Amino acid sequence: MVSRIIPVEPFDLVIFGGTGDLARRKILPGLFRRYCDGQVLPGARIIGAARSEHDDTEYRQFAADAIREFGGGRACEDGTLEAFLENLSYVTTDARGTQGWDELASRISNDGRIKAFYFSVGPGLFGDLAERLHSYGMADADCRIVVEKPFGRDLASARTLNATLAAHFNESQIYRIDHYLGKETVQNLMAVRFGNMLFEPLWNSQYVDHIQITVAETVGVGGRGEYYDKSGAMRDMVQNHLMQLLCLIAMEPPAKFDPDAVRDEKLKVIRALDPVEPHHIVRGQYDAHAGQEDAHPSYRDAVENPRSSTESFVALKAHISNWRWAGAPFYLRTGKRLAARSSEITVVFKDTPHNIFGADAGRHRNVLSIRLQPNEGITLGVTIKEPGPGGMRLVDVPLDMSFAEALAPDGEDPPDAYERLIMDVIRGNQTLFMRGDEVEAAWAWTDPIIAGWEARKEFPKPYESGSSGPTDADLLMQRDGRKWRGVSP
Ligand code: NAD
Repeated sequence: MVSRIIPVEPFDLVIFGGTGDLARRKILPGLFRRYCDGQVLPGARIIGAARSEHDDTEYRQFAADAIREFGGGRACEDGTLEAFLENLSYVTTDARGTQGWDELASRISNDGRIKAFYFSVGPGLFGDLAERLHSYGMADADCRIVVEKPFGRDLASARTLNATLAAHFNESQIYRIDHYLGKETVQNLMAVRFGNMLFEPLWNSQYVDHIQITVAETVGVGGRGEYYDKSGAMRDMVQNHLMQLLCLIAMEPPAKFDPDAVRDEKLKVIRALDPVEPHHIVRGQYDAHAGQEDAHPSYRDAVENPRSSTESFVALKAHISNWRWAGAPFYLRTGKRLAARSSEITVVFKDTPHNIFGADAGRHRNVLSIRLQPNEGITLGVTIKEPGPGGMRLVDVPLDMSFAEALAPDGEDPPDAYERLIMDVIRGNQTLFMRGDEVEAAWAWTDPIIAGWEARKEFPKPYESGSSGPTDADLLMQRDGRKWRGVSP
């Protein structure tokens, strides 16, 4: 299958935090891959800006190393990498001071090209960057800013941040990134729902029993311990990534595939979420891996806080109070140090109204699984007759649409979410970015849950590293006669 790559217009992109981990692992390798595919054209100006002292040559070396390590095996030896690096430069810039800003302003063109500023720095610097871009004359009406997560840590801080950015930029210039929305499968979810007649008539609580959204990681907090311990799974994952997935699954069809039409529908979903009952939510914190305490320490050892009450796991049952979803719960689950790395949305359909095959045939349900990682793809479980002369025995088989095989037969990795999202910024398409009111609505739903834990001084339940989480999370499902799919040890 030949994909049609349409080059983006020439642009200037400043990466604040251009020497950081995100720039190294995602942004620079992603830009290189878009360059290899002819989407980023020679002449694009990519300027790294960070506090550490480097010159252009050193920054190009930094980028070359990053691309060799994280570029996904793209050919670096045929001169393409050298040609790409020609587009890169570096300005030592202090987000909180004056260093570098005049130089940066002089390197940014005034020739009418697209200008984008990627805030790939800690959130404490977002306001400083916005103010300096304005005072040094770079914040004109056409430029775009890309803002990384976390976007606030509660409703009040998100409102303050929105107001700070709004002082210098219109909402149409602000791209709040959630890389889950850039995944091929997530966009395919919209294509499957709204581009086919097959699913949409069944997409409601009359035919859907329940929906599960799981984002499971095998890694622990790693080097992010200090940040994570002040955040936890609810703030780090549920308020943003899982909430965004829930919105795309649950939203009404927008009138058109246009940024505000899509985001209006997502916002309605968040606002229709009921508050979560305390007994419908389970928090967990991982213990050390038995016998491997040094390699896989407990959460508390990893964050060096022996009394930490921060959760590394959350499972909850949510209800959306609208005509489409009343009666079909959404079960959300995310955690670190679980048995498998798996991000999956599962739509479990109801039983057929009458089983003509008798009780011996067992219970069979259609299950639509949307896998975000690993191996992005969509599988529909259908019930068929087990082959052979053994009578009318039923069996569930998957109708599999694995993107890796179907859309990239040469085995090349599909574009990373960041690649797509950065290209959307240059194209000026905000559909896959969160609007300010969406973020605030998500915090408004999350805040009371966190406040409840704090008021009750609740500690998370311990769970074994490499397990599927605390047993209470399984009970949450079992009480409803359901069970989680996947992520078993
Ligand atoms: P990092 O700590 O590796 O890098 C931070 C960068 O900011 C460095 O380039 C540093 O020089 C620069 N910086 C720090 N203080 C500065 C100042 N006063 N002036 C100018 N530059 C300054 O961080 P990271 O992991 O690259 O993350 C960057 C942002 O992206 C954070 O908001 C983070 O939450 C978010 N994020 C990161 C990842 C990831 O995988 N690394 C994933 C999702 C979101």
